[in-house]
Amino acid sequence: MKTLALPLALTLIAGGSGGQTSTKSTPDVKPASTPVMGAFNDQELLQFTALEPIDTHTHIYESDPVFFAMLQKLHLHILDIIVVADNNTPERKDLSKESKDVFEVVHNSNGHAAACTTFDVYRFNQRDFVPAAIRQLNQSFDEGAIAVKLWKNVGMEIKDAKGNYILPDDPSLEPIYKDIAAHGKTLVTHVADPDTAWSPPNPTDPDFSYFADHPEWYMYKIPHSPSKEAILLARDHVLEKNPDLRMVGAHFGSMEGDFSQVARHLDRYPNFAVDLASRIPYLMMQPRADMIAFITKYQDRLIYGTDDTINPQDNVHQMVRRSEASYAREWRFLATDDTLDFRGHKVEGLALPGPVLRKLYHDNAVHWFPGILGSSH
Ligand SMILES: [Zn+2]
Repeated sequence: MKTLALPLALTLIAGGSGGQTSTKSTPDVKPASTPVMGAFNDQELLQFTALEPIDTHTHIYESDPVFFAMLQKLHLHILDIIVVADNNTPERKDLSKESKDVFEVVHNSNGHAAACTTFDVYRFNQRDFVPAAIRQLNQSFDEGAIAVKLWKNVGMEIKDAKGNYILPDDPSLEPIYKDIAAHGKTLVTHVADPDTAWSPPNPTDPDFSYFADHPEWYMYKIPHSPSKEAILLARDHVLEKNPDLRMVGAHFGSMEGDFSQVARHLDRYPNFAVDLASRIPYLMMQPRADMIAFITKYQDRLIYGTDDTINPQDNVHQMVRRSEASYAREWRFLATDDTLDFRGHKVEGLALPGPVLRKLYHDNAVHWFPGILGSSH
């Protein structure tokens, strides 16, 4: 689920500057007529599809032929992630409705989509919460789910019977983690973000109005609410206590503001990897050489993802066009030395070598999400 209107991510997701890429050193090999919205040109498409790319972070709730055609065209596989949330559209609160939508996408995708299920943490204070969660997860595994999502309502929203926020390492959740590990599935954690939830109000920040709509997430104003550090520490406890559990931290593990912190976590926890979903702009903001060094060092632990979302009421044509432009733009940044426009600044692509790109876009997804390509592979 798209978390918030992160200012930097938004610029790209909204395609504000999409399609305005210009070539720096090889204008001769680029067609003059780059497609509108910055979609791939033919030559780029060949290079992108050769990676057999996998997007491990999507929320697709609508089975639409236009979307499936894009998957075919881009040779793209996706992980379709279920999130139970009571903060957005009402249907997001209904796990069975979401599961139905996502598994429908999976079944209609001709092998291009796999499901990441979840459990309903809003049932936390019900007496049968743990056995019911495990039963329902195992049912989803039987249906083919390859992963489980833990969302930020754990740490930032849901409270126990005593009125205390529950954290990712709550003892009640431990048998659930054990079940996930025992089934060889991957846990995707998206907790404790964005940083601005713990910052003083700033009317110039695009998140400002978001917290007006969702005061329950504005931790800065909630006395005795957990700090970001406390939530991430609790997540780390899960990694420590469950060395057999593969965990992928969404959005650089919610540490995109500090790549040295990401690096320390990857060094410390061999069962931890992170996805890049909707956080490529944070790479763009760092010195190019530093990011090349970072990605090169952790090339086995970084997994491509976007956080692209399609809800049933969305205009799928428009979303798909936007997605395609975004895939193209991010690929250009990672794979080429094209000059990209980033919020009015020029950013040079990282031009990562082929074997590294193959890991980011394909191999790491296969390793960290066994089954993501389906049983036919
Ligand atoms: Zn998401």
